[in-house]
Amino acid sequence: MQYTDLRSDTVTKPTPEMRESMAMAEVGDDVYMDDPTINALQEKSAAMLGKEDSLFVPSGTMGNLLALLVHCQRGDEVIVGDCAHIYVNEAGGMSALGGVHPRPIQNQADGTLALDDIRAAIQTEDVHHTITRLICLENTQNICGGVALSAEYTQQVGMIARENNLSLHIDGARIFNAAAALNVDVKELVAPADSVMFCLSKGLVAPVGSMLVGSQKFIKRVRHLRKMLGGGMRQAGILAAAGLISLETMTARLGQDHARAKILFEGLNQIRGLKLGASPQSNMVYFDLLDEVQLSVNQIVEEMKKRGVLVDWAGPRRFRLVTHYWVDDVGVEQTLEAFAQVLA
Ligand SMILES: *Cc1c(COP(=O)(O)O)cnc(C)c1O
Repeated sequence: MQYTDLRSDTVTKPTPEMRESMAMAEVGDDVYMDDPTINALQEKSAAMLGKEDSLFVPSGTMGNLLALLVHCQRGDEVIVGDCAHIYVNEAGGMSALGGVHPRPIQNQADGTLALDDIRAAIQTEDVHHTITRLICLENTQNICGGVALSAEYTQQVGMIARENNLSLHIDGARIFNAAAALNVDVKELVAPADSVMFCLSKGLVAPVGSMLVGSQKFIKRVRHLRKMLGGGMRQAGILAAAGLISLETMTARLGQDHARAKILFEGLNQIRGLKLGASPQSNMVYFDLLDEVQLSVNQIVEEMKKRGVLVDWAGPRRFRLVTHYWVDDVGVEQTLEAFAQVLA
């Protein structure tokens, strides 16, 4: 059965064009920095984000961890949103592997951290306190609804960071979705950041990999630590070839996924028993089940599957649907019909 899979944009399989270019990719030993395809991907990533250098890493989680390890020493503190992937969904890597102490502050509904909350969380010099070293933002902010943080807001956080001698890292797993949602060049969104991680393997459709981007000095240190973590790969140009196609062909089309998320939102809003939040800004639609709905989220997942649609729950009464390259207009229609049937 051909399913419409809305569980995540991580389910995206590579396109025929990607598979072909993977098969044909020129490769070398990347630990010797000899892989021309990886080198090209790293140059292109840095150029697109307006930074000096970048490094291909196996996953977004490793990219974020590497940034934390370079910016912070053991016992240092990181200001991070309480809904941040780095804080909630990376298995506590910063603490377990880096000895880095998270200082979670509340994510606002729009995905931001309130500037006053950030200022208040910066530790003063005192033997009792940790040393604040880093601020992390997430753009788009996943748990807050796939919301985009503006360039102006990021500038303001960057100013706070500079005034206090802190670094700024952006978990930009979906930074190109943010750029599409705000209709700005991605460079503007990351200009104030010392480092940025973005994923090739989500809405950009590549099978594997993320990029960590920053200054030459930063990336030199990252390369060393990536080897330490076991992330030094060999002929991984096979993977980078797909990533190059992501950057060339997938970043500019993300608006289509966002438009389909809006159509889903509007359709779901007509179905009894569902409570939608704000209109989606990017490729995610979150909604809750009203009390009148007798079915559990698991039962709904099963019923949707019978109708050819894969969805995943995001809480005891909550769903998240994610649009991506492999969800077309027919898939959106099929999804709305299936939900209408299941909830009728
Ligand atoms: C997916 C994701 C990551 C981690 O990427 P993986 O490749 O799954 O390790 C980090 N941050 C955010 C916001 C993500 O959505």
